[in-house]
Amino acid sequence: IPAHPEFDPPPKWATGGVGGAANATRANATFVMLARNSDVNGAVQSIRSIEDRFNREYGYPYVFLNEEPWTDEFKKRISVLTKAPIEFGVIPHDWWFQPDWIDEERATQGRKKMEEQGIIYAGSVSYRNMCRFNSGFFFKHEMLLKYRWYWRIEPDVMFHCTLNFDPFVYMEKQKKTYAFTIALYEWAATIPTLWDTVKNFIKENPTYVAANNAMGFLSENNGHDFNMCHFWSNFEIADMDFWRGEIYTKFFEYLDKTGGFYYEASCSRWGDAPVHSIAASIFLPKDKIHFFNEIGYEHPPNQHCPKDDEIWKKGMCGCDQGKTHDYGPYSCQHQWDRIFQ
Ligand code: GDP
Ligand code: MN
Repeated sequence: IPAHPEFDPPPKWATGGVGGAANATRANATFVMLARNSDVNGAVQSIRSIEDRFNREYGYPYVFLNEEPWTDEFKKRISVLTKAPIEFGVIPHDWWFQPDWIDEERATQGRKKMEEQGIIYAGSVSYRNMCRFNSGFFFKHEMLLKYRWYWRIEPDVMFHCTLNFDPFVYMEKQKKTYAFTIALYEWAATIPTLWDTVKNFIKENPTYVAANNAMGFLSENNGHDFNMCHFWSNFEIADMDFWRGEIYTKFFEYLDKTGGFYYEASCSRWGDAPVHSIAASIFLPKDKIHFFNEIGYEHPPNQHCPKDDEIWKKGMCGCDQGKTHDYGPYSCQHQWDRIFQ
């Protein structure tokens, strides 16, 4: 065990907690990564980073998901990076591929229209599959059912600070539901059909709206318009019981039935980032959502690097504080701060 005087609590290796042995200070949690076999280099880099900065000391398990069978190469190169348990799962067909009831003509038209406007991933069907899967299905996968908490990780991300605490346990102890590190605007203005659909859902289900919610993060005029602020969902630590619960289940089914995941723009409109963000901000009290300032995180082209020198030093962060996204031009950190003033 590398000596590290700032570790608190002491490394779990020392207490035999690896792999979820009974230990009151561990959470029922897992990492989850959706990836393709071709993402192997990026996946290796991300796992090395999270192991280095956190999990080497905690041994939380990993679940990898893919709509195709994993190659031996992928499994081999990942498995050697950690002592924690790893599962490699395949996604059931109907949770990934475009449903039969989607009008392909209309979906093709939608993709064309977005492509003409130069919107990122506009022409990609697989990207839409991914957005829909991440919005409504990953937490139902049999390999995830035994866990309550997850930390989403993507290929090619970096963790810039050593964590001197367990974020899963923090979430549980502080009674949080959803946590983020980067909140940002989507500028590209297209017809806000997602928001109209959300408003209709709320009208039909007014009792689902939480008291003291974070609507002020999503809207400048009390819900009339969506300001395009969302949590960047390539990083998420959250409670899957929220996604599995009645409110979110009904919400996702309502959105899905409109076909919007296939007819409308790419993920920034009808994707897991706005869908998760909107659900968390409307159906939860705002104090259930947490900003993890201590978790330095980079998914190019954006990064969160703690501005606070104490936090930066304690975490041995090393990232460029001047490059942090927090209060840059595309950030929604102001909108986040505003609702707590
Ligand atoms: P971006 O961050 O919005 O640019 O999108 P990414 O390309 O990073 O995709 C988001 C996540 O979904 C990453 O974890 C990818 O590895 C994963 N992903 C994207 N498309 C596919 C796909 O077609 N199949 C699989 N299995 N994973 C995908
Ligand atoms: Mn990504």
